Amino acid sequence: MEHPENNEAYKGLAVNAGIEQPASVNPYLKNGHRRKKPRLSVSDYVEGIIKGDITVLSRAVTLTESTRPEHQSVAQEVIEKCLPYAGNSIRVGISGVPGAGKSTSIDAFGLHVLEQYGGKLAVLAIDPSSERSKGSILGDKTRMEKLAVHPKSFIRPSPAAGSLGGVARKTRETIVLCEAAGFDKIFVETVGVGQSETAVHSMVDFFLLIQLAGTGDELQGIKRGIMEMADGIVINKADGDNLEPARLAAVQFRNALRLFPVPESGWTPQVFTYSGFYNLGVKEIWDMIYRYIAFVKDNGYFEYRRNAQSKYWMYETIEEHLRDSFYHNPCIKAMLAQKERQVLQGELTSFVAAKSLLDAYFKSKREWTSNDEIEES
Ligand code: GDP
Repeated sequence: MEHPENNEAYKGLAVNAGIEQPASVNPYLKNGHRRKKPRLSVSDYVEGIIKGDITVLSRAVTLTESTRPEHQSVAQEVIEKCLPYAGNSIRVGISGVPGAGKSTSIDAFGLHVLEQYGGKLAVLAIDPSSERSKGSILGDKTRMEKLAVHPKSFIRPSPAAGSLGGVARKTRETIVLCEAAGFDKIFVETVGVGQSETAVHSMVDFFLLIQLAGTGDELQGIKRGIMEMADGIVINKADGDNLEPARLAAVQFRNALRLFPVPESGWTPQVFTYSGFYNLGVKEIWDMIYRYIAFVKDNGYFEYRRNAQSKYWMYETIEEHLRDSFYHNPCIKAMLAQKERQVLQGELTSFVAAKSLLDAYFKSKREWTSNDEIEES
């Protein structure tokens, strides 16, 4: 309709009919219209990773975390092709109970090593129990505010909850991908409440244990095994009123460590106090870690430990696959609950029950193999 102001009297002030505004929602983003990311081939992945392309690296990590067999086979090929480019890094495991200050410290440690030594830093995690690990990248990024926006850092949360062995293996594979992408410093964080330390210890060059000064006996609640694994123990929150208790805790840890035999590495673990929050004493810790690396590279232990770790992971992977194959076997699934009941009711001994399950498993495998042979011939 013609607008009244378009009358001759208002010449020069023409008002046009309005233009329909586009919807605020792009209809093409509805399900089905979303543009799929193009599939990458193994060589696309490998080339992207070696160029240091973070998007490709992230996608490759996601692939290693996938349980779908077709993703796993691509992932394994990518990892294998990346292996020759991996290994050239310093891997540090960082452990401590929730609230010990791991995130705050990793933020401070990360900035320090990047400033002091240059290069690129990847922060990974092993946390098979946590809610946080269910894909919350944002959660981890906000935990490490400064590193999250640092152009030389890559933060990746723990693979989604699952068996510890599975979660740890994926993190170990991620280390290979990150190293191939040029990350020469790798932090692997773990929550210090049990076996995850052993998993982290089996993939790092230096194991750093973060402790807090508490009340009473500082050493209470720390398993001897975990202390034995530590190459360095650091007491966080040594600031304000907590300075003295932290120093006291350090003395107690030093005394306790004296009672342990000298570790295989020949390196006597050291104890420091620091404050991740106020960035005090951080340099001393990293000077120590770099001293350690020089020490073990010199005496051959660095190479030895990495080889021992590779061997350990070979056996771990075999065991994980065997366990998976066993428990996912349809015959076993059908029998397991009944056998368990029979054991609980005293009708079968554990050993007889286990043997009959294993026999059934191997028998089903043999049948599978001979069926395959028939099909092939
Ligand atoms: P995480 O659970 O081990 O990752 O621990 P966080 O890094 O989230 O820290 C737990 C709490 O301790 C937070 O409220 C931090 O602000 C605080 N915190 C961490 N480091 C220090 C420190 O060096 N000094 C003090 N006073 N507080 C700290």
